[in-house]
Amino acid sequence: MTEKINDHILNIFPSTTDDNSELLFLLNKTSRILCNWYSNAEILTPLPRKSKFKASLPEESGCDIKTLFEEINSLIYSSFNPSSPGSLAHLDPPPLSISIVGDLIAGALNNNLLAEELSPSISLLEDQICKWFSKKLGFSENSGGIAASGGTLNNLNALVTARFISGLSSDPDAAFIVSEDAHVSFNKCGRILGLNESNILSVETDNEGRMIVSKLENEIDKLINSGKKIFAVIATLGTTIRGSIDPLNKISHLCRDKNIWLHVDGSIGGIYAIGKYKISDMRYINQANSITINPQKILGVTKTSSLLLVNNIESLKRTFQTGLPYVDSSLEVLNRGELGVQGSRPAEIIKLWLGLRVLGSKGINKILDQSIDKKNLFLKKLDTNKYDVFTGPLHIISFIPKNLNRQETDKWTLITKKFLLENNFMISRPFYKGRYFLRIVFGNFNTEESHILKLTNLLNQKI
Ligand SMILES: *Cc1c(COP(=O)(O)O)cnc(C)c1O
Repeated sequence: MTEKINDHILNIFPSTTDDNSELLFLLNKTSRILCNWYSNAEILTPLPRKSKFKASLPEESGCDIKTLFEEINSLIYSSFNPSSPGSLAHLDPPPLSISIVGDLIAGALNNNLLAEELSPSISLLEDQICKWFSKKLGFSENSGGIAASGGTLNNLNALVTARFISGLSSDPDAAFIVSEDAHVSFNKCGRILGLNESNILSVETDNEGRMIVSKLENEIDKLINSGKKIFAVIATLGTTIRGSIDPLNKISHLCRDKNIWLHVDGSIGGIYAIGKYKISDMRYINQANSITINPQKILGVTKTSSLLLVNNIESLKRTFQTGLPYVDSSLEVLNRGELGVQGSRPAEIIKLWLGLRVLGSKGINKILDQSIDKKNLFLKKLDTNKYDVFTGPLHIISFIPKNLNRQETDKWTLITKKFLLENNFMISRPFYKGRYFLRIVFGNFNTEESHILKLTNLLNQKI
């Protein structure tokens, strides 16, 4: 096959008669390019210095294999490189090897999680993995869940459900409550749900970035007095800027007293609930009605991998069941396209399943513990006489220099972010409480002690 590199692909689809040597060649060649890319991840910068990539567009004739691989190569080497040990900007860790295989299998099978008859084994797998997670969280016997393409979609799945179950689907006075440090996806959800901004209430956080429960209580009363009907309170388990955790115990009590759906946005921290690392209040997570968990954000399961778990699976069924008139349905069969907003869905569960199988509890704990250890090492080595540091119990940290005014901080963060990138460290610059911060996410398994020491040295010298 190698000598035919100037040719066009003969078998546009996998052959059902020959031995598929051409497909094997394509897979082999792609695998070699990718493995090479990984092998060079330390030398390559987190972001390409100069991108040579040009988006070529379809032409009259299909292109030959040689050109195709030149373009694939250019695409890969012009990509963000999460495997660089200095890639510490976002919740985008390097991929688990087995998860890459999982994506390949999902693509090759091309099954559809819309309907049981289009994905018999994978529908079962998704159901079982969701139940496994739910049990670990301490949810009820009737619990279960659904995978969706990302935390935003699962937060939406949860809010649509909460609103439907409370009978407020078409009520313009329907309202929900988040903390001011909650993720922006809730603003998006509010718009999709057709709510006015005054129906999305954000409660102040304390100086640890946690929702203030007394303020939540006041807001609930105020909203009710003004004629609004609250269908959900959202507690964040791991805020995006500093990894803070809202007080689940008190919030869940309040929601129970007032009979309000509690959704936990555990897009970042939810996965810690199945690990050994002790986080106060984590044991109250089973008091939630629903929770979003994003294994894509820390375990390295390739994007996208997100689950919505609910204490009672009937809530998803009631909300999203429409019947699928074009699919042969019987009463015993649950078509998983009727448990959430998405219709056709890829078999994303395969890579999560394989990741969990390969890691086991030990492997999961190792990844989670390492993330915390790395943050703690960074904190120990950073000169905290020079910096104000903002962090919760998780692996995310935001910081700014002490004694600079807002304008100076904005400028300093911009310059320092650029300076660090020139030194192969990519960190982020979030806007939070009216000013820019620098932020590091310690979720990259390739980052070692030596890298962290180099980073703190650079920062300690910087001011
Ligand atoms: C990332 C994030 C989300 C959204 O998840 P996506 O997978 O990016 O859609 C929601 N909530 C929190 C707290 C997050 O950090």
